[in-house]
Amino acid sequence: MTGKRIYLDWNATAPLRPEAKAAMVEAWDLVGNPSSVHSEGRSARRIIEDARAVLAAATGAKPHNVIFTSGGTEANALALMPGLHVSGGDPVMRLIVSSVEHPSVLAGGRFGGTEIVQVPVDRSGVVDVAQLEALLAGKPPALVSVMLANNETGAIQPIACIASIVHAAGGLLHVDAVQALGRIPIDLSGLEVDLLTVSAHKIGGPKGVGALVMADGLSGLVPLIAGGGQEKRRRAGTENVPGIAGFGAAVKAAMATSEEAQTRMEALRNRLESGLRATDGGVVIFSEGAPRLANTTLFSRPEMRAETAIIAFDLEGVAVSSGSACSSGKVQASHVLAAMGVEPALAQGALRLSLGWDTTEKDIEGALKAWRKLAGVLGKERQTVA
Ligand code: PLP
Repeated sequence: MTGKRIYLDWNATAPLRPEAKAAMVEAWDLVGNPSSVHSEGRSARRIIEDARAVLAAATGAKPHNVIFTSGGTEANALALMPGLHVSGGDPVMRLIVSSVEHPSVLAGGRFGGTEIVQVPVDRSGVVDVAQLEALLAGKPPALVSVMLANNETGAIQPIACIASIVHAAGGLLHVDAVQALGRIPIDLSGLEVDLLTVSAHKIGGPKGVGALVMADGLSGLVPLIAGGGQEKRRRAGTENVPGIAGFGAAVKAAMATSEEAQTRMEALRNRLESGLRATDGGVVIFSEGAPRLANTTLFSRPEMRAETAIIAFDLEGVAVSSGSACSSGKVQASHVLAAMGVEPALAQGALRLSLGWDTTEKDIEGALKAWRKLAGVLGKERQTVA
């Protein structure tokens, strides 16, 4: 393989945006602790508050309700706790999560194992709202956690509808919007979401920074990390000033170009999917029937194995991933596809190609070239077996 590599794994992480890098470099030169009252401290504080305002505007929230964390995982762990309530309302006592959530939500935060139940999804990966209603009815108030967009399939959940069902039953709604930020509009107050998780590194900010965004009037949040009074006593520890600066700059850049970037990406994604199918009629694209992020394709075909396919793409200079997390370097079966009722034989081959703001037509053609080569090999294997 010669030439430039093709990066099609943006849902795992995005390259650092130049705007984010510049903001971080500038912040690294600031000496002050943002909690200090002197001029140096106030300069560092200003950076954090500017980023908070940007994030609040991007999510339809109030700045004082944005809590910076070390990432999406920590924000999810912070949000998922018994005892949260709106003023005058009963505290939530149990947790309902969709079966396609990120592992950091499935882990359940501070709820005990017996207090957590899963709500199923349909074959497209969309939450079964009738089942959710049944799980909520006649029981103590629940915190419900449903993601806005799925990291594997890109499927978008009907959050406004889910919010009204949850609130009618006296519950609260947490939404993991890590994959949605910068890709589709997010409006915490318009959607009537109570808690929302975001992360910097999926939109071109640095890794290791995220935020939990709350609605006005929500009470009962107990910090995961206690100590100093930072983040209005909701998350102790000196703030990651350069990281937060990079997060704010990345959000600003993503918001400025979001709509045109998504239109362009959708055209590229459609070209990709028609090319995958033109080469191999056995290709199955998951969540195709649901509203989906414009940048994500999760597909498989019979007899494909994700581990081998990822390596084959890699050798051709193309970075792709399996749908499932492979945090230990080993591809595991996707709980998302299992929840959607996909047969294990097909799920084992699932490959995710996810695009970003600087993906080009040439990148897509390069990926399709690699696919033609791989599909040819798979086709020959099939003939040999037959
Ligand atoms: N939620 C979703 C949907 C994700 O895709 C991810 C990251 O893969 C996370 C949460 C975790 O975010 P972070 O990597 O910032 O901890």
